[in-house]
Amino acid sequence: MMNREGHMEIIKEEEAAVEAMDLSAVVPSRFRRICVFCGSSQGKKKSYQDAAVELGEELVSRNIDLVYGGGSVGLMGLVSRAVYNGGRHVIGVIPKTLMPREITGETVGEVKAVADMHQRKAEMARQSDAFIALPGGYGTLEELLEVIAWAQLGIHDKPVGLLNVDGYYNSLLSFIDKAVEEEFISPTARHIIVLAPTPKELLDKLEEYSPRHEKVVPRMQWEMEQLSHCKSCEIPGLKEGKPIIQAQRGTML
Ligand code: AMP
Repeated sequence: MMNREGHMEIIKEEEAAVEAMDLSAVVPSRFRRICVFCGSSQGKKKSYQDAAVELGEELVSRNIDLVYGGGSVGLMGLVSRAVYNGGRHVIGVIPKTLMPREITGETVGEVKAVADMHQRKAEMARQSDAFIALPGGYGTLEELLEVIAWAQLGIHDKPVGLLNVDGYYNSLLSFIDKAVEEEFISPTARHIIVLAPTPKELLDKLEEYSPRHEKVVPRMQWEMEQLSHCKSCEIPGLKEGKPIIQAQRGTML
């Protein structure tokens, strides 16, 4: 049996262990869930894969859940497994038709099957408090540019972060600067993109972000943007020729 001194020794050891814990590692966040857009491929460089895992771990360290495209392949698989293994909730939103292509083996967390790509983006956006893009291909670019364009229109005011791993997005950023120079993108709208090279720096910046862009369509419910894609939506009044904008108003994303 353990005597009193032995018991005290164990308590002291536990106290020392708690004191040694890096409490600064737990950063309280303003975000509950972040949507990550990323490649369905792993990319050529190991740094892309490392960044996906690091981003997942950074979300876990801040108690943030993940929303993503639902696939188990490429960077999507890496980030989702890192968040899931760290004990946070993972929501994958995937069109039924893409399941055979983007899910190989097991996918982690909750999987929401949706009808098409438009519903996927809408659902991912609805579920999240911010967006982050990792390196990726056409799909990632399309998703990223759409949430930037939605922010520009004032459809949402959630921060949009770009993780520029190893300068992957440098040429896209140069192009955007060119568009500002040529007066196709306003300098204010240029600031929608929050940029950083590492997950920690990016999350720190996103926590601080406050929108500066003009809201040209304030308070319009984001679903309105989706109406043209939603064949099954029936909005009273539309058939009578009322303008869409008057048919339904609501809160922002
Ligand atoms: P990629 O960057 O091309 O590897 O694609 C990354 C993710 O974006 C994949 O899950 C694709 O299915 C998805 N994706 C591609 N195009 C679209 C789209 N138009 N809407 C929503 N997701 C898309």
